[in-house]
Amino acid sequence: MSLSAKKSLGQNFLKSRKAIRAMIESPNITSDDVVVEIGPGKGALTKPLLETGATVIAFELDERMIVYLREHLAEYIQREQLVLIHQDVLQADLSRYTNGKPYKVVANIPYYITNLILRTFLSGRYQPTSMCLLVQKEVAERIVARDGKESILSLSVKLYGIPTYIMKVAREYFSPSPRVDSAVILIDKIHRHPYLTTEFEEQFFAIMKSAFAHKRKRAIKNLQSMNDRKIWEDIFTELALNNDVRAEDIPFNLWIQIVDKYLE
Ligand code: SAM
Repeated sequence: MSLSAKKSLGQNFLKSRKAIRAMIESPNITSDDVVVEIGPGKGALTKPLLETGATVIAFELDERMIVYLREHLAEYIQREQLVLIHQDVLQADLSRYTNGKPYKVVANIPYYITNLILRTFLSGRYQPTSMCLLVQKEVAERIVARDGKESILSLSVKLYGIPTYIMKVAREYFSPSPRVDSAVILIDKIHRHPYLTTEFEEQFFAIMKSAFAHKRKRAIKNLQSMNDRKIWEDIFTELALNNDVRAEDIPFNLWIQIVDKYLE
């Protein structure tokens, strides 16, 4: 059977042993773990994950890959260490497959749904404890704010966990080679902070959307679309923040305090 890559499904198969090792070692995968893999493809990551002794629950949309893996990883399926699910991961009821146990996500994800994957797993009711992902390098750099500039993306991830840049994976290490380089990131210590009420979450995202609406404008100017300038100036003064600061220069911890004060 031909297993040519389907561009529409974001299929770029991983060839780097170093990256595979990093994706197992950085989230510290052991035989005690339940791992959810998104898009196992031909199993480049699935097999090494299984070799650690971990249980793997893998969601794959492409039926050809399911058929291929059923044959090539049959022994793991037989002993119920590997559960293959032919389904869109974004539609999956994860708690059903993991029996409500804590789980980690490890995946070389299809890039066209990066944001949706992050949102679904991080803000969902049934969060993983960590996510080790291979994403576009530029996205990885934005998530960890490598240049010191925050974005809605970096702040949204930090709301739920601690992101770390693990390593670059050059485009040659994929087949076929994508047009951009990639990088491994680890989002660790994912949990719902006690302050994360539904109201807090809603306001946090509303404030982010408003504050980052126009990149060149100052945060307060942008925030005026949400409420009076005076309200924001008072909050900024209380937090010893300069009124001229841009949203990208306000660190995560201060954003939490801004939202907190806005809700008071
Ligand atoms: N894990 C393999 C590897 O590293 O070589 C394949 C990675 S490839 C970048 C992404 C995989 O995700 C493909 O096998 C693709 O068919 C699958 N995929 C795409 N969209 C998906 C979805 N919504 N749910 C589950 N799998 C999906």
